Amino acid sequence: MLFIINYNYMEIIENTKEVMATIEIKCDYCGQKIKKGNVYNTTILKDENGKYVWENHISCDKIADKLNMFDHVIDEGLTSVEFIDNIEEEFSDLLGCDDEFSFLDKLKIVKEYYKLKHN
Ligand SMILES: [Zn+2]
Repeated sequence: MLFIINYNYMEIIENTKEVMATIEIKCDYCGQKIKKGNVYNTTILKDENGKYVWENHISCDKIADKLNMFDHVIDEGLTSVEFIDNIEEEFSDLLGCDDEFSFLDKLKIVKEYYKLKHN
């Protein structure tokens, strides 16, 4: 007998490609803006609810890779919650915890540390 309990499943329908934003959109990893005119990553995915488009900063993919965020996810993909937790954790490791910084500031500082530009 096969038991599948609350199994999150994600499948890539169309591989990631770089496109230019024609309007301002939101990054699905960090939740911050991707400005009009900037190049970003878009991927078509499918889960138990159907097809959807995942859009993210190219630098968010790169920082996730540098911080080995993809090592701990298997079929469900890296979620925004996990991404944000990882950035918060890395910021704390680098500079000590400081709640005076907004998440966007923390993200920019972590990216700068790894020589990535947040755009
Ligand atoms: Zn982002």
